[in-house]
Amino acid sequence: MAEEGSGTPHLLFGDQLGPHFVDAARGGPHQDAPLLMIESKSVFRRRRFHRAKAHLVLSAMRHRAAELGGRVRYVRAETYRQGLREAVGDTRVTVHHPTSHAAHAFVRGLPSVRVLPARGFLVTHDEFRIWADGHGTKHLRQEDFYRWVRQTHDLLMDGDGPAGGRWNLDHDNRQPPPRGAEDLGVPAPYRPRESDIDAEVRADLDRWARDGDVEFVGEDAPRGFPATRREALAALRRFVEHRLATFGAHEDAILSADATMSHSLLSSSLNLGLLHPAECVERAEARWRSGDAPLNSAEGFVRQIAGWREFVWHVYWYFGEQYRASNTLRHHEPLPGWFNQLSSQGTEANCLTHTLDQVRSTGWTHHIPRLMILGSFALQRGWEPRAVTDWFHRSFVDGYDWVMVPNVVGMSQYADGGRMTTKPYTSGGAYINRMSDFCGSCRYKPSVRVGEDACPFTAGYWNLLHRHRDRFERNARMSQAVRGLDRLRDLEALLEQERDRRD
Ligand code: FAD
Ligand code: SF4
Repeated sequence: MAEEGSGTPHLLFGDQLGPHFVDAARGGPHQDAPLLMIESKSVFRRRRFHRAKAHLVLSAMRHRAAELGGRVRYVRAETYRQGLREAVGDTRVTVHHPTSHAAHAFVRGLPSVRVLPARGFLVTHDEFRIWADGHGTKHLRQEDFYRWVRQTHDLLMDGDGPAGGRWNLDHDNRQPPPRGAEDLGVPAPYRPRESDIDAEVRADLDRWARDGDVEFVGEDAPRGFPATRREALAALRRFVEHRLATFGAHEDAILSADATMSHSLLSSSLNLGLLHPAECVERAEARWRSGDAPLNSAEGFVRQIAGWREFVWHVYWYFGEQYRASNTLRHHEPLPGWFNQLSSQGTEANCLTHTLDQVRSTGWTHHIPRLMILGSFALQRGWEPRAVTDWFHRSFVDGYDWVMVPNVVGMSQYADGGRMTTKPYTSGGAYINRMSDFCGSCRYKPSVRVGEDACPFTAGYWNLLHRHRDRFERNARMSQAVRGLDRLRDLEALLEQERDRRD
């Protein structure tokens, strides 16, 4: 039961929109506490956000306010601080633990506040700290954490062991796209129908942009992701019933004509707080137990949510505010203008133009284009990790500080020197060729390193290994690849070509 009286206002951030953020029975605000939501315009001035993201967040907040009716006061203000002062002055407020270091510092600095535990995750901060400290190392591994979550939350377990006898079914889930197929042939993901609130938000964004107040990139209509709990539940149901069964096998594959394949598209709903991860993984497990989805698909999905999503959330807090500034590889190149603009005009690499076009028109791509095309390209080019993090944060509908910092700084740019992954995620064109259908119609050839037809990823990969040879040859998972440099008779020509590269 909550300790505060019924009159203490409770602040809801824009990513705390589900019922679990107002649940008095589970340590939330008093059931009669007045609720407060603040729409701050300055947030959109700080970064050049994708329009689809700005639209989704504002639409979701305004839809939630409409649902809560008279219980909520919805304040539109320049900044959060101003909004709060206008609404409650110095009165005591409660708030659930926010999701970024900046927002956390802001609430801790309020004159009178009680910060309630974080919501929307399976594992608490204390539980994670005990687990991580117990590992006694500054290198944390998602696989160890994931197995521990499965055990402690009884997820996909048969007694003390993993369902089916194996913890890790990645081997079954890394198949290339079906040969010759243009799409996976699975039912389309759920797409919401827009409401008057969406039109109102769009008109506001148009006005802000017209007045030169706020600048956006990308396109936003029609809204492609859920803005309400009802829509998010419909999206979850559709995924579990029609798409989960085929989630696993081709999870890492890319098809140029099938952007969504069998992915869930639930990240924005989870990150807005519209869905709780427990309901997602429990439904997936139930589907497997009823024989309606194979284990590799259920396990692959549970791994993403109970493993990766939880791990990334906790790494963000455990490694602290300084983690975002990590730059072990000393990469300082700026992002080129075309990349910043989400324009595919600056490159002829088919995989990259296609992925950038997709991000520009939807604010979303699945994991492998993010990691092995966008992130890998940035890593190979030596772009500044902080700027890359910022780019991902503002360009994706599901981008929030807590999820971007570890995914970009740690997983994709290896800027933390391996604190959360065992090796850099990057490859030459051969991997992209195996896992996608991009290369056949590309003007480059994935097997060529030097010359007119040289694939930028293949050349970029060897160039990266060369630049960081000393570091990478000490990494057991990289040393064999680094030794490959010695077999390249055209290495000098390749390095010279990469020095002159313009994209
Ligand atoms: P699915 O493939 O259906 O996976 C199911 C769910 O698992 C996702 O909805 C998501 O909630 C969770 N998940 C899977 N992997 C991760 C991960 N590495 N970190 C956190 N959650 C994960 N995810 C975000 O939610 N927001 C981001 O800003 C974000 N940025 C990323 C940046 C980079 C460079 C990389 C490599 C990954 C990033 N991810 C991010 C993780 C992942 O790519 C997306 O969660 C996923 O592609 C979203 O699509 P989906 O909902 O269809 O996911
Ligand atoms: Fe991308 Fe290289 Fe394949 Fe072209 S050849 S699509 S640049 S990996």
